[in-house]
Amino acid sequence: MTIQFKDLGLSQPVMQALDMQGYTEPTPIQAQAIPAVLEGRDLLGIAQTGTGKTAAFMLPSIDNLRKSDNQIPFKSCRMLVLAPTRELAGQIAQSAKDYGAMAGLKVHSIVGGTSVNKDRNKLHRGCDILVATPGRLLDLIDQKAFNLSGVEILILDEADQMLDLGFIHALRKISQLVPDTRQTLFFSATMPKQIKELVSKYCNNPVTVSVTPAASTAERVEQYLFMVQQDEKPALLEMILMERHATPGDFERVLIFTRTKHGADRLVKKLAQSNIPANAIHGNKSQPQRVRALDEFKRAKTPILIATDVAARGIDIPGVSHVINYELPNVPEQYVHRIGRTARAGADGVAIAFCAEDERQYLKDICRNTDAEFTRLDLPENFRAVVEGVGPTKPAPKQQRQRVKPKPRGGSGERSRHSGGGGRPQGNRGGGQGGQGGQSGKSGGQQRRRGGRGGNGGGGGGGGGGRGRSQG
Ligand code: AMP
Repeated sequence: MTIQFKDLGLSQPVMQALDMQGYTEPTPIQAQAIPAVLEGRDLLGIAQTGTGKTAAFMLPSIDNLRKSDNQIPFKSCRMLVLAPTRELAGQIAQSAKDYGAMAGLKVHSIVGGTSVNKDRNKLHRGCDILVATPGRLLDLIDQKAFNLSGVEILILDEADQMLDLGFIHALRKISQLVPDTRQTLFFSATMPKQIKELVSKYCNNPVTVSVTPAASTAERVEQYLFMVQQDEKPALLEMILMERHATPGDFERVLIFTRTKHGADRLVKKLAQSNIPANAIHGNKSQPQRVRALDEFKRAKTPILIATDVAARGIDIPGVSHVINYELPNVPEQYVHRIGRTARAGADGVAIAFCAEDERQYLKDICRNTDAEFTRLDLPENFRAVVEGVGPTKPAPKQQRQRVKPKPRGGSGERSRHSGGGGRPQGNRGGGQGGQGGQSGKSGGQQRRRGGRGGNGGGGGGGGGGRGRSQG
């Protein structure tokens, strides 16, 4: 029998708010976490984005706040949610308002990059729920504009990301400022050693809920891989975005990751040269710029967003059909977070990774440390000639393609499959079918190398990406 929200012991106002959101069935983390949190237990949630963890902590906490019914404390809050990024903090605050709509709770959020004075005024009278990034919170505490003495419930969301962003000292300090009697709910997608240490500092005999193994890749994301030279990446991206080279899935919104802020800006300019509008979101962008980029992405006005890890963390945008790892992350867990931007809460998604020669080690680390499994895709026909501006900009007709059957890559979790030269699969994100759609190249089981790039790329690709460089 499937568990319903009504079986979990939530109050009427919270149930009404859920109704307004249109949610009927709890996600696994919600089903497991909500009863324990309602009992007042501390919780350790090992969960990646898209699992519904925000509601898992927010719904029962709203009920606990209603039950204790304490006064809003002066210059303090009753429930504190710490989040790594401005965007995530904004989303959590919005969820608190949505879910707490019927409970009459006062919700605020404070994040870096905005006016401290405004925050100081806003927090003077305290609030029920405060969502904050650690840096801004400590700023206000240091200025004696806020204190944590009123905290009944403390939530750390995406704790591993907070560590990645260098908030370890802030988190240690905050742990000393909150009352011992509080309830703590601690969420992290991964469980490195430092996080375990933090859990022991923050939590008291927590109930552990793990919805997927630590560092596993989002279940419903189909993962594909291009082995491609660094200097070929812009051309490959353009061909994919302009649908001149078939890849699985229908583009709705495409989130593209680069490792650096400059890389993101460079890519925006590069795409603009090909009349492909895109926005970038990263730490050097002002808050209004970020808000505008996200808004245009959400409304699909500019459905291509180029992001760095830090900026993209926690962004919840429905309808991200594709995540493209234009540059592989050097931290394997980051890969999990990146592809978690698609396939959120029940939707399918496609992740495509570009791996250059100098990123092979990153790819190995991703395969070793996460459960990522990649399906190899072929580069476009005559691709090198296209890159060098001397060849056709369209892939060669299907029947001319010849491929060499790929060898499986031992132990790396990498599977091989050709993308097929056939058109984009319609209404089917099943990359499997998409991948096998154009198998004409394999006809007759020929394993013949051709001088052209496509044939060579396929052959070398199967063997782990080493392509012959002999052709011009
Ligand atoms: P989260 O992991 O908290 O970022 O949630 C991911 C997405 O799932 C958000 O868009 C939520 O609005 C949505 N969501 C959360 N709980 C449910 C539910 N029980 N049913 C359907 N969607 C949900």
